[in-house]
Amino acid sequence: MPRNRLTTQEYLDGIVSNNRTILSQAITLIESKRKEDTIIANDLLSKITQLESNSLRIGITGVPGVGKSTFIDTFGKFLTSKGKKVAVLSIDPSSQRTKGSILGDKTRMAQLSTDELAFIRPSPSGSTLGGVANKTRESLLLCEAAGYDVIIVETVGVGQSEVAAKNMVDFFLLLMLAGGGDELQGIKRGIMETADAIAINKADGDFVKAAKKAKVDYQNALHLFPPNENSWQPTVTTCSAVEKMGIDKIWETIESFERLVKGNGYFSKNRIDQNVHWFHELLNTRVLEKLLTNQKAKEQIQLKIENIEKGIEDPSTAVSEILDIIF
Ligand code: GDP
Repeated sequence: MPRNRLTTQEYLDGIVSNNRTILSQAITLIESKRKEDTIIANDLLSKITQLESNSLRIGITGVPGVGKSTFIDTFGKFLTSKGKKVAVLSIDPSSQRTKGSILGDKTRMAQLSTDELAFIRPSPSGSTLGGVANKTRESLLLCEAAGYDVIIVETVGVGQSEVAAKNMVDFFLLLMLAGGGDELQGIKRGIMETADAIAINKADGDFVKAAKKAKVDYQNALHLFPPNENSWQPTVTTCSAVEKMGIDKIWETIESFERLVKGNGYFSKNRIDQNVHWFHELLNTRVLEKLLTNQKAKEQIQLKIENIEKGIEDPSTAVSEILDIIF
């Protein structure tokens, strides 16, 4: 047995007693692609999902430079000062390219990373075929088992990672800057539409006026969107992560949201929907993985590619034939 690999029970005991080293090791275990690790990881996950948790999952997104790490550092410290245990996880598709997470540097959240009540885990995405399939969701479950009250899922990167985050959190916060058009900020309308709150960051110094104007603009824009299934009216606030302004207001907003959706049943419905969604995602990924690593399938795929290149077979028939052979 390689060093650092424990039994399921040892992982479980360590996590439940909030041993952060073991929590870290358990996340490494679930991120591992080794078959032996996967067996223990699945065993661990099935045990962990039976534990009670009262956590709140918050997604935070925004383009690079908007101030996500600074904000999470400030916001996280605000929460730990209230005695809350805070975990920060990240979805970082770019890490695949750079062969190491750009979030690897804990100094990004200098204050929070030395806080006893906080756990920060940059999660390099072992991205699989056709999606941001990293293990953030499973890591989130481990953090909940360790008793973290607030789990922040930060996304770095564009498009897919935001959608992935939205699908695993209760509340979705979009950080924006004043002054830049939506296109400039690389934020698609679709993402704005999924936000439960927009916070215009860097509302300090010379930016205060522009931030106030942006707030009105975004408020107007949000009114044009169709009402949410959860009955929540998304809010727009301004804040300064550096000057620690507006942070309490954002937390109050999140608390009001939580009260509303727990009261109207949306909170648990959403989590169930997310689980079903997650099941489909995993099924898609795993079936595809299995297909593409199957020797017989690989040979057939190669053959079909050659036929298509020669112009003697069309792609649609080729795919149907492969599926008939495999299933
Ligand atoms: P990220 O790429 O979204 O994680 O952004 P960072 O947190 O790394 O911040 C990018 C830059 O913006 C850094 O130089 C921060 O110091 C600065 N910044 C972040 N928040 C604020 C803020 O509230 N006000 C001002 N003036 N600068 C900020």
